[in-house]
Amino acid sequence: MITMNAAERFVKVCGEIGNYTEKLTGVSVVDAYFGPEGFHPEKMSTEKTEIDLVHEIHQVFDALRDEIDDPLRLDFMMGELHSLNIVVDWLAGKEMSYAELVEGLFHIPLKRFPENEIDKNIHLLEERISEFPGDDLRDKVTRFGSEGEITGEALQQLIETELQNKSAEIGQMFRDQVFSKMGASVPDKGVQYEAVRNEPWSGYNWYQGGFKSLNQFNIDSKFNKDTLLNVIYHEYEHHVSNLWREKAFLNSKNLELSIVPLHTGRCVISEGTADTAKEFLGVTDDSPRMAVINTLYVLRRMSSINAAIMLNDEGKAAEEAVDYLVNRGFRTRESAQQSINFISPTTKDGKPNFFAPYIYTYYKGRTDFVLPMYLKAVEKDSLPEFYKTVYMNPYSGSSVTWNKAFEWM
Ligand SMILES: [Zn+2]
Repeated sequence: MITMNAAERFVKVCGEIGNYTEKLTGVSVVDAYFGPEGFHPEKMSTEKTEIDLVHEIHQVFDALRDEIDDPLRLDFMMGELHSLNIVVDWLAGKEMSYAELVEGLFHIPLKRFPENEIDKNIHLLEERISEFPGDDLRDKVTRFGSEGEITGEALQQLIETELQNKSAEIGQMFRDQVFSKMGASVPDKGVQYEAVRNEPWSGYNWYQGGFKSLNQFNIDSKFNKDTLLNVIYHEYEHHVSNLWREKAFLNSKNLELSIVPLHTGRCVISEGTADTAKEFLGVTDDSPRMAVINTLYVLRRMSSINAAIMLNDEGKAAEEAVDYLVNRGFRTRESAQQSINFISPTTKDGKPNFFAPYIYTYYKGRTDFVLPMYLKAVEKDSLPEFYKTVYMNPYSGSSVTWNKAFEWM
């Protein structure tokens, strides 16, 4: 038998855990893979029990400690593996609270936003939307949101034509605004757009390897021109971040970079950078419309987190969470119902909902990690170094390693 090194063992166990989570939830914890065929998750055992997996995870912990010298790389891999251990414990039915689950996976504290903080944002919304048409606040928000509203087949048309072109434009913006500052380039074979239905999310970037992605949009979701644009920037940034990761893998041959797991500290930074893509590209403006969009963003992310806690921690019923999203997040009932699929403890077919803990990554990733560091870089005139750390050092991209990776600043 050939002995494997720590990175190979890491990739092997990731693949096995992916097969395990797929069996139990329908979703693999492996989000993307672009390494050698022999280590492909599809080639890994589908028969491992939670006991086998936890045993193997502990062996990989030991191997990492013995073999990995770079402290940032070691912290990154240990953090990822710790999260994967929690994934297995969770799905194996080990007793843990929702807070323990979220904190274990993402290394961020779970906290319900106090209602007075939500009130503050509602007042801010009231102020910012005051000039827009409508009888009262709810009416104004509904009218604001329904402008350019699109769903179903019309949305599919738009996705396959205009949006496909828009993505090429965004690729060029990344080259002009971000990569040029880094003085570096990365191969980019672009993003293919596709319309899908019956998914718990509204958009998803599937990185295919070979420097290309498939972006799927859920046409059961109702988008308007603002939310659609937000999703496009968000998903394109995922593509970009994976381009750099694949390049780093090809240069370093560090095998663990070729596998991209979900539900780890990596997701916090990855969703954080995706939710900050508009700042990176300088597409934010001071228009009244943008001010409203930004306030709605905060309100919706906060109320979704609170609704997830209601459902998963406080044992509240779905209807109550929908009401909460309508009343406190100023969503339409339809969009609230749609978004419940993503945060409910179980799916419609009664399986554990793999995405139930995931909602924290976006807002926390942006407001606690990426945005403050980005603003600091702007203030210190260090954007080139900031982007280099984000995109050219893949081990910076975890809630476990982020602050350490930015110690230079
Ligand atoms: Zn995302």
